[in-house]
Amino acid sequence: MAKITIDYEKCEGADCAECVDVCPMENFEIEGDKIIICNQEECSLCEVCMDVCPNEAVKVEED
Ligand code: SF4
Repeated sequence: MAKITIDYEKCEGADCAECVDVCPMENFEIEGDKIIICNQEECSLCEVCMDVCPNEAVKVEED
């Protein structure tokens, strides 16, 4: 099981949304101007979201 966290101090929200585009499990959604985590239990721990985030705002850990 994965634990995904977004550091909202660093996240650019809907203006960036790289993680939303790249996640194969559709774990991120845009809600207003914010990115939310919606499907955490489906995470495959591929870490692509961490790789594409320009601000190192996304963290994925094995829980
Ligand atoms: S690690 Fe992979 S599956 Fe999990 S949230 Fe990031 S991009 Fe999606």
